Parts: sequence; C-alpha cells; structure tokens
Amino acid sequence: MTCPLCSAETPLSTYLVEGGPQGASVDICAICLEQISGEPQPNHWRGLASAMWSEEAPVQVVAARMLKRLSAEGWAQDLLEQLYLDEETQAWADNVAAESDHKDSNGVTLNSGDTVVLIKDLPVKGGGFTAKRGTAVRGISLVQDNVEHIEGRVEGQRIVILTQYVKKK
Ligand SMILES: [Zn+2]
Repeated sequence: MTCPLCSAETPLSTYLVEGGPQGASVDICAICLEQISGEPQPNHWRGLASAMWSEEAPVQVVAARMLKRLSAEGWAQDLLEQLYLDEETQAWADNVAAESDHKDSNGVTLNSGDTVVLIKDLPVKGGGFTAKRGTAVRGISLVQDNVEHIEGRVEGQRIVILTQYVKKK
C-alpha cells in the first residue's frame, strides 16, 4: 500500500479527517499518522508537493493543514500559495478547531466518534448514578472549547467526562 501523503510503501492505517463529512478518512502510513498528532518533521512532508493535487478531498484537506503547520518552511509556503481547493474543501481544511487536542489518560489523541473506556468509577453529578470503571463509551464527541472534556452516553444519559479518566479503545 502506498501512503497518499508521503508515497511510502508500507502498511497503512485509517486517519479520520475531522471537521468535514462524518466519517471521512484517509489511509496513511504510521509516520504520517504519528507526525500529524505530534511534531511534524518538515523533511518527511516533501511529498505534499504532489499529494496536494490528489483528487481525494480528505487527502487535500490533510495536505493543506500540514502545509499550513509547516509554513515556516519556504517550500511549504510556496506550495500553499499554489494550492487550489474548491470552496467546500477549503472550508473543511480551515475547520481546524476540529483538529483535536483532546488526549486520553495516556496522551493518545481522541477524535469524535472514538470509543473510550472509563479508568475509574465516576459519580455522575445530577445523574444519580456512578459510571463504573471499565464502562465503554461509544461515539464520544469532543467539547470544542475545553480540551479536557468529552461527551458520551452512559446508561442512556449524555454526560461530560474528563479526558484524564478515559482510555481510548
Ligand atoms: Zn506517509
């Protein structure tokens, strides 16, 4: 399999591209995946010069966002200036609030739609029950203005959960 971002021939894993159509994703290599949620090494991303012309919108979005992060590099700035996205794709790429800084108790990036497991018993304020340690919470959503908060459904109730008490499944 070829990584659409860096052209590496390697097994790929699925990266959910937030901020656009529900469930939109792109299959990318482990290095790209790691650097997207961590610290990008500019030299790894030279392949964006061709990736940004992909016909796949999720690839375009990831390429545009990464070029922006790397825009201290002259070459990335040049590519950004050449990049053309249609209006819808541009809006998606700009919707970076959705690029998550929410991290679980192990520092793993959380995305909306993830399943997490509670790592301790949590009394639910106003809910009159305790969400038990080990409970799986499916399809979480991220609280946009607070990176320590996610929302999920436990025992039929939508509750806010602190990210430090969950582990991504
Ligand atoms: Zn890659």
